[in-house]
Amino acid sequence: MASSSVRAPRIVLLPSAGMGHLAPFGRLAAALSSSSHACDVSLVTFLPTVSSAESAHLDSLFAALPAVRRIDVRLPPLDTSAFSGADPFYAHYEAARRATPLLLPPLLAAAGADALVADISLASVAIPLANKLRLPCYVFFTASATMFSFYAYFPTYLDAAENGDADVPGVGRVPRSWFPQALHDRGNLFTQQFVANGRSLPDADGLLVNTFDGLEPEAVAALRSGTVVPGFPPVFTVGPLTPVSFLATREPSTKGAAADHTAWLDAQPERSVVYVSFGSRKALAPVQLGELAGGLEASGCRFLWVVKGSVVDRDDGADLREMLGEGFLERLQGRGMVTKAWVEQGDVLKHPAVGMFLSHCGWNSLTEAVASGVPVLAWPRFADQRVNAGVVARAGAGAWAEAWSWEGEEGVVKAEEIAETVRSVVADETLRTKAATVRDAAARAVASGGTSYRSLAELVRRCATAIYSP
Ligand code: UDP
Repeated sequence: MASSSVRAPRIVLLPSAGMGHLAPFGRLAAALSSSSHACDVSLVTFLPTVSSAESAHLDSLFAALPAVRRIDVRLPPLDTSAFSGADPFYAHYEAARRATPLLLPPLLAAAGADALVADISLASVAIPLANKLRLPCYVFFTASATMFSFYAYFPTYLDAAENGDADVPGVGRVPRSWFPQALHDRGNLFTQQFVANGRSLPDADGLLVNTFDGLEPEAVAALRSGTVVPGFPPVFTVGPLTPVSFLATREPSTKGAAADHTAWLDAQPERSVVYVSFGSRKALAPVQLGELAGGLEASGCRFLWVVKGSVVDRDDGADLREMLGEGFLERLQGRGMVTKAWVEQGDVLKHPAVGMFLSHCGWNSLTEAVASGVPVLAWPRFADQRVNAGVVARAGAGAWAEAWSWEGEEGVVKAEEIAETVRSVVADETLRTKAATVRDAAARAVASGGTSYRSLAELVRRCATAIYSP
């Protein structure tokens, strides 16, 4: 891209809170600044972060990507009394949404930005701001294209005063029981943001999704053709974005826990371990946690289980022994490893010992599983996760225990059922073969000349063109 007469486009990335948003933005920064795409990339960081995991991730990210410029934005404290009880990550979105119009323009000017790529949760404030500054604005949707089609269609659904399942044109039915829980309450802070962002999308210059065409062909086609929302901007499918490796640059003090589980995995037979994680920002209710412990034990499988005790890791003082019950850890006798530490999940899923992933279906987790060819047992719990679970099950890369409850529903999934399902998914050779096929398709998509590679190259081309034809 860069030559004596044509400079690299300067792209400013504007992520929002939570590892589910920061991680893909970091991966996008790495891809855009790589020698293949050669952009000049700046990444805005809203401080303070909600979780320690985000702070540690940012430090590692900038150490691993020295060419990416860090732009810190300190958020003024937010009076949360108007939406008391709101999820702390959604409250952080709100703080960033309110601060963006005021704090961002001088930073964009200082960075000499040619284009802005904003997180979906900031879309309805970032797009008008960029339009005012005559800056091309792209929105990055960090979940599946199928979820994106629901997101974009939801304002139409509301305007039609519907209150049943949503029939997303060209994509299919999203049962009401799959809607993110907050959407059942129109006054909820998240719902207000969701609807405002959804309505703003047609004004963006383009939309990025961390997926590939072959994984969700119907949703991608329906978004691109304007079937979901007429006049929808161009959609760039840029995934699955590759996790940034921190192995070389991590602080030695943070390597301890990683070394523990890596050494344990190294000692396990190939594809024998079930990796269990419910993501970075939710904890299972104690009664469900107990049943899961019982289920993993009764399954007879080896497992690596990352346990969380609270929504925000900084508040997580719970003791593993107390959480899992007397004697549980001792009874495992090396067959299972349980940790409350942060693991680099991208590396874990690539480990040859890992044969299955019991996942909450955060989209990043699913893209990592898909890219690694590890079959998923989907147990969605919250937000977009049921829609994402549907994608991975339809693609054949996972099995979804669809009857299992999620947050806010009655019913606890019992240990015996968990054990039996885990055993049957581990033994499912057809699923394993199909997951390998999907992995190969993902690898082709991101390789030079693949659909996702070309999509990202086209985005860069447009950003470069905008420099010379404002
Ligand atoms: N993650 C990780 N280690 C952990 C927990 C989570 O590396 O111990 C990463 C995971 O690989 C993913 C991100 O954090 O990239 C979580 O995003 P996801 O969309 O899967 O779920 P969320 O945490 O937002 O529910």
